[in-house]
This record gives sequence, C-alpha cells and structure tokens, in this order.
Amino acid sequence: MLKRSFIRLTKPRFKNELLPDTQTEPQKISTPKKVTLLLDNSFDQKEVFLLKEGDKVKTGRKLFLSKDSDTYVISTITGTVTSISPYTGDFGDTYTAISIVAGEEEEIDDEFEKYCKEPNLDVAKKFLACVPGNPPINLFSDPDKRINTIVICGVDSDLLITTRQYAVKSDIEAIKSGIHFLKKITGIDNIIMAAHRNQIQECGDTDIEIKEVNSDYPSTHPHLIMKDILGQSVPEGRSCEDVGVCFFSAEAIAAIGNAFNNGKIPVTKNLTLIKKDGSKMMVSTRIGTPISEIFDAFEVTLNEKDRIIAGGPMTGSAVFSEDYPIQPDTDAIIVQDKDSVKKVLDNPCINCGECIRICPAKVPINMLIRFLQAGQYGTAAEQYDLFSCIECGLCSFVCISRIPIFQYIRLAKYELRSD
Ligand code: SF4
Ligand code: SF4
Repeated sequence: MLKRSFIRLTKPRFKNELLPDTQTEPQKISTPKKVTLLLDNSFDQKEVFLLKEGDKVKTGRKLFLSKDSDTYVISTITGTVTSISPYTGDFGDTYTAISIVAGEEEEIDDEFEKYCKEPNLDVAKKFLACVPGNPPINLFSDPDKRINTIVICGVDSDLLITTRQYAVKSDIEAIKSGIHFLKKITGIDNIIMAAHRNQIQECGDTDIEIKEVNSDYPSTHPHLIMKDILGQSVPEGRSCEDVGVCFFSAEAIAAIGNAFNNGKIPVTKNLTLIKKDGSKMMVSTRIGTPISEIFDAFEVTLNEKDRIIAGGPMTGSAVFSEDYPIQPDTDAIIVQDKDSVKKVLDNPCINCGECIRICPAKVPINMLIRFLQAGQYGTAAEQYDLFSCIECGLCSFVCISRIPIFQYIRLAKYELRSD
C-alpha cells in the first residue's frame, strides 16, 4: 500500500486499493436482532413524539418524530420500537437514536410503492435520503446551492476500501437506472462517472461520460476530482456544492435505481470489513446493525485497547462502543490490534517538513499546527490556510512527531463553524 522511497528525497506514495477481479459476493449478515437508526435531530425530552416506544414498524417504513420536521429515517427491519433516546456523535453532534427490535416475520411497508410510479424530486426527498450511500438529494432544493453537475464516484474515498468499486462491478444495471432517474428528477444532464482505469469497461454503456481517476491517494477526494477532472478549483473555505458540483457514490445511485424500479426502499448496506490481521472481506448488512453483530458473525474478538474505526484508515473516525450502528455511508469498518495502533503524542513540531511535502492543498502545516495546539483557531484560519485543508489525513500519517494534526484540524473547523 505504502510505497516509500529508500532515501526520503521524494514524498511517500499511497495507493487506493483496486477491487480484485476475483471479488466474490458480499457475505450476508442475517437480519439483526436489533437496529439503531440515527435521526439527525437533537433529542428534546419535552417534545411529544409521533413515534412512540412500543410502536410496530415494517421494513421500509418512514420514521419521523414530528409532522413539522423534514428529518426522517427508514426502518431497516420489521419489529417494535424499543427506545427513542439522545445520541452523541463526533464532536458532540447530537442525534435521536431510534432502536427497533426485530419481530418474527418481515413485512415490507408499501407507502413508497404508491409514490414511486411517478419519480420526481419530492418523492426522492421524502423517501430516499437515507438509502445506502447517503445520496445528497436535499441539495437540489437548497436555494443556496445551484447544482449543475453531478459526479458519480465509482472510486472509493479512502485507502483499503472497495465498497463503491464493488457497486460498479455488481450493480451496473441499477446504476444505469439510477442515472436515468436522477436526470429525470433533477433536470441535470451533466452527469459524469469517476472511475479507475480498470473499471472503464464495466462503466462502458452507462450513457454518461466516464473520467479516469488515478489510484494515487488522495486523487479520489472530491476536491481533487474537481481539480484534475473538471478543471475547477474550489475556493478556500467553500465546498464543491457551493460551486455547483455534487457527488454521489456509485452505491447511492444504484440504490435510487433499485428503489424506483422495484418500488421498495433499499435497506442493506455493503461495507469493507478489515480485520486485525489485515484480511478484508465485503459484508452486506442492514443499516443500523450494531457492529457487535458483524464481529460475532465473522469471529472478530476485541481486547482492551484495540481500536475500531468507522471509515478508512486516513479519514475514518474512532468508534468507542460495539453498539455503534452501521450508517448509510459507512463504507468500511477497521479493527486494529492494540499493538498496531499508531500512538499519537502531543509533541511539538520539529519542522521536518514531511507534512508540507505531502499535503495536496499546500497548507503550511508546520505553522498551522502551532496555532492549533495553542487553541488559536482564528489565527490558524486567517493566516495559515486552515480552510484550504481538504481533510485527506495524510499529514497526520507522516508526522514524525506523531501529532494528530488531522484531528486538530477537524476540531478547529468544527469550533469555528459552530461559533
Ligand atoms: S489533512 Fe493535512 S495533508 Fe490533507 S489537505 Fe489537510 S492539511 Fe493537507
Ligand atoms: S510532519 Fe509533524 S513534525 Fe514534521 S513539520 Fe509537519 S507537523 Fe512538524
């Protein structure tokens, strides 16, 4: 994975994993005993919820807490709601967790089927915002974003992961349907597919332009796809969506195609499971499955101080409980043995320059980190390009002083945005 020159005159190179030709179907986890779905809504104890503990729900049923809210989740099993409670995510973000315990027989909710015969943006927004891959459907009705280009990512966003590549390989007909529906419901014709060279043949007759992305990490990052493929730079502190381009994963577009074709909301997520010994497997499970059920199914044992990461090794987030539920955009789960966890330290920067050489955004990280460590986030943003960082995580990986630079950057951005 890591190609390091013998004498460090050149920067180290990291390669994205390419899906092997021999990739077999994902190993399926049987319907979990319980799922937990995270509603992007702060839990308010005083609020009287429409949904209550004890309510029976079918698979595919849309769940929301109040009639006035546009926020919902889709039940991924048939069963009984057993709890509605507060949940704290990264950086203290708050959600409402809805737990459902599986019943005996699976039943499919038919509400979406009634609407799906006439695909339009409203139906997609009302039913398909939490399908596998987490499509950013709400962007198309955001008055602050004028989306004119859609990029479908057949490439994976982080090292070791092959989840999106597998969607291209296994579900190209659904992707073609998804593209057809997306054009119809958004009116946007400028849709391109970002793919590695070895995927181009698979994507061949999707009727959209296919653009090759090389496998040097972080070439699959949206900002770099924008620059290298679309020839557009994203101004500092702005997002791709701010300049009219939005990104869908191949899995999300396939889910949209399958939903409108079959009249059922997809509820099963594929992900790459990377075990402690480095072995990888593709797993298919219901959204909301606690990772403990995946570990049980594949005999992953955890010891004290082992680490679990949701997402890839560069940009994923540490998970502190085996109850953590699989999210619509969880493309990987990594388990690291405590002895292979790279320790981070709060050492001072020694100005070695490794991070600067590798940073794709040319951020003066050696200066930036001094202000981040001192908690001077405003100065870090104003003078040292904090918001130019595209969050690839490379600087943390190469830092000789083992400073968790990427985590400092994410925290600083979070703090400044919530001011
Ligand atoms: S995470 Fe680090 S290396 Fe990557 S863009 Fe940001 S500052 Fe540069
Ligand atoms: S890699 Fe670490 S020690 Fe070296 S310049 Fe960057 S922040 Fe400083």
